[in-house]
Amino acid sequence: MSKLTIDNVRDQVIGIDKKVPLLDGRLAQYINLDNAATTPTLRPVFEKVNEFLPWYSSVERGTGFKSRLSTEMYRRAREIVREFIGADPEAYTVIFTKNTTESINKLAHRLSFAPDDIVLRSIMEHHSNDLPWRLNVNVEYININPHGGLDLEHLDYLLAKFSHLIRLIAISGASNVTGYLNPIHEIAERAHAVGAEIFVDAAQLAPHRKIEMGSLDDPSHIDYLAFSGHKMYAPYGTGVLVGRKDTFLKGDPDSVGGGTIELVTANEVRWANLPEKEEAGTPNAVGAVALAEAILCMEQIGLESVTEHEARLSTYLLRKLEKLSSISIYGDVDPANTSQRLGVIPFEVDGMRHQLLTAVLAFEGGIGVRNGCFCAHPYVLKLLNVSPQRIETYKEEVSHGSHGGLPGLIRVSFGCYNEESEVGALIEQLERAVRGEYRGEYIQDRKTGEFQPKGLSEDLNQYFSLF
Ligand code: PMP
Repeated sequence: MSKLTIDNVRDQVIGIDKKVPLLDGRLAQYINLDNAATTPTLRPVFEKVNEFLPWYSSVERGTGFKSRLSTEMYRRAREIVREFIGADPEAYTVIFTKNTTESINKLAHRLSFAPDDIVLRSIMEHHSNDLPWRLNVNVEYININPHGGLDLEHLDYLLAKFSHLIRLIAISGASNVTGYLNPIHEIAERAHAVGAEIFVDAAQLAPHRKIEMGSLDDPSHIDYLAFSGHKMYAPYGTGVLVGRKDTFLKGDPDSVGGGTIELVTANEVRWANLPEKEEAGTPNAVGAVALAEAILCMEQIGLESVTEHEARLSTYLLRKLEKLSSISIYGDVDPANTSQRLGVIPFEVDGMRHQLLTAVLAFEGGIGVRNGCFCAHPYVLKLLNVSPQRIETYKEEVSHGSHGGLPGLIRVSFGCYNEESEVGALIEQLERAVRGEYRGEYIQDRKTGEFQPKGLSEDLNQYFSLF
């Protein structure tokens, strides 16, 4: 295959030509503007997986040729990941997990916290970089500023207030709601200055920007980092946790069993070396190969080209959105700033429920976007300035099984293969929806909050079937 570039990557997206049914019976080419959730597969990744499957066998535990080959490819995949994020092999270990969430839970269990230790995380975090800390250690929120960006002055205030009690700053590299990029190396310096460490949730950052873990003797280095393959064109169930070896050499692994040991007697266990010690059970070698190939693809395209392309799409969308009346955009709304943020753009339409708008876009435009609070409830509630009384009402409603009234936004998120015509199609549908010119009569399911066209009967088996 010829070299993958930002100009030809669209031709290499599996399923890009898939047509989906619309409410009026027509078929339309699907427009995926929900890449912050999950990206489609790149053809070279798909092909590499198919090429690997005939050779695929047990990893680490067999002497047969296929086992040796699989073990070697699993090892090489790890090297490709390590080089992708510039991690020194002497200082860092690369642990394969299922996804970012599993990586963060693992880290939260593996950092042995003293009773007074504090982890700082921000209000803009995804629940996956909030709840694992809440359950394991004392936590404090770093505030956001009025535009929804990280409030670095508040971080300084917390660092001064809690100083040596702060064990870790857990921060997203980029927000999955507003696309803000956080100054991770600057935050790392501040963390290290008080003797703390830094964890970066790079689930959103890794597919869009170059990452460098740095050198442990440089105060701006990153101590721990996680990301997921399914957000970077390799949806085969692999995540990564990269972290300091000295941390994982200490103590027992959080999950134990086959693969984690060197020797087990009736009353003694000798743990294996890193990273095997931290990967309990049979590893997902196919997923690791897929992620490695996706990384090689991203490197071929060049993350600078990805940034430039996605910034152009974001500028185009923001310019169009600002012309539409009754639309409020959240985060950085300046179309000139798009290379300083990710192509993740949240907005709402006055007088139209977020669930209804996304249903209209899906059923009448074949457009996939996300709505709701994007697994970041504290952040979205703050962005929407929801009062504490209102939150009490939502709590009450949810406890009675009703999700229909929950607040939320609509989020458009670009991948490197999206194109301007897709933004055009979105804008066209949005304009019609805002004018109330949609065809269907939509009924809300109070339980889930979702809207569906009245009388909808969809035969999904016509498109894909498991039996
Ligand atoms: N952090 C951020 C910033 C995310 O956007 C996501 C996924 N939406 C996650 C963590 C969790 O990723 P995963 O679902 O792959 O574990």
